[in-house]
Amino acid sequence: MSFDAAEIRADFPVLDRRVNGHPLTYLDNAATTHTPRQVYDVFEEFYAGYNANIHRGIHELSHEASIAYEEAHDRVAEFLGADGREEIVFTKNTTESINLVAYGLSRGLDAGDEIVTTEMDHHASLVTWQQIAKRTGATVRHIPVTADGHLDMDAARELVTDDTALVCAPHVSNVLGTINPIEELVDLAHDHDAYAVVDGAQSAPTRPVDVGAMDADFFAFSGHKLAGPTGIGGLYGKRAILEELDPFLFGGEMIRNVTLTDSTWNELPWKFEAGTPPIAEGIALGAAVDYLSELGMENVRAHENDLAQYLLGELADREFVRTYGPEVGEERTGLVSFNVQGVHGHDLSSLLNDRGIAIRAGDHCTQPLHDRLEIPGSARASVYVYNTREDIDRLLDVVDSAREDLDGYLASERYHDLIS
Ligand code: PMP
Repeated sequence: MSFDAAEIRADFPVLDRRVNGHPLTYLDNAATTHTPRQVYDVFEEFYAGYNANIHRGIHELSHEASIAYEEAHDRVAEFLGADGREEIVFTKNTTESINLVAYGLSRGLDAGDEIVTTEMDHHASLVTWQQIAKRTGATVRHIPVTADGHLDMDAARELVTDDTALVCAPHVSNVLGTINPIEELVDLAHDHDAYAVVDGAQSAPTRPVDVGAMDADFFAFSGHKLAGPTGIGGLYGKRAILEELDPFLFGGEMIRNVTLTDSTWNELPWKFEAGTPPIAEGIALGAAVDYLSELGMENVRAHENDLAQYLLGELADREFVRTYGPEVGEERTGLVSFNVQGVHGHDLSSLLNDRGIAIRAGDHCTQPLHDRLEIPGSARASVYVYNTREDIDRLLDVVDSAREDLDGYLASERYHDLIS
């Protein structure tokens, strides 16, 4: 299929709506992407056609639901380059996936162990490992971020030692857009017999991922960032490691045999999917990865980079704007964080919203990274498959007039209502 953002928009009816009298310009994709008809149709098909609990019932609807839910794991496995459905656990999101790994690995951690993460980690990872360290007595070390928004790999080589139990890093930063040298980090972890855990929340949606080639032990992602619904995400784990890992949640479906005093676990991946899962969401996740595969992840990658370079180049030309992360020319995903001099990100966001433009402002769940950048927050514009240069031009128009418009805005009734 040829890649044409204007054509792709037709699959996303929400993009036709108006916000505050303007056509919606949706540039908050790093937070959540929109869902195409091909994906949300799954909900109607499921609830109107074969809604039933999976695995348990020997009746037609349960059989159909089970097959569809299980096959969704196959599609995700194929999308990520995993070695079959046994290596794909459905979870709620990236956060739950990282918590699942952390809980499972925590049994082997104690005071002599070190956990290496990065200064650019999302709170989903940063807070999880920090709290696991408090419980186990392990120490967390952080790979620093350089002034130009990269991981300091020299420091990483010093930080990862034979005391390191695991290394966890984002494949792509959700603030800087930096694509981290993830294979190098995975190798570094393995050189020291440590586990390599990859936060793929921003990479799985935006570029081809091959967990086999990456050799990561775990790779976490969210469905709602890759054209899927909320409430569903996943964890890739190497089969041999998942076999050994303790389950995170106990209950029905994850067991094989239960007595009053002991239990044994179901086969992979069901061992990690206790209770009734979000069935329609899981099937819809399968439809989402099919949708993206049809577009071609290489095309998605090129489109993201193209729009990001355009936006970054335009912002870099404005002396009243400061951008963060790698400079123009270096490949990145389609997100750019920036600040307009003298304008708070939330005020910029409100000005943009008045024109129907959605971006995000704040710390993007990376407070330590913002401390490192010595800023309280930033505005972040992020594109996806349906965005065009026109969307970015509309954003730039508001950026250009923001300082002037803000005087009027701060005196306006709307602002008064917002703060009172
Ligand atoms: N890691 C990164 C890099 C992210 O961008 C996000 C979402 N902003 C998360 C983790 C958490 O994702 P979720 O809220 O879907 O669990």
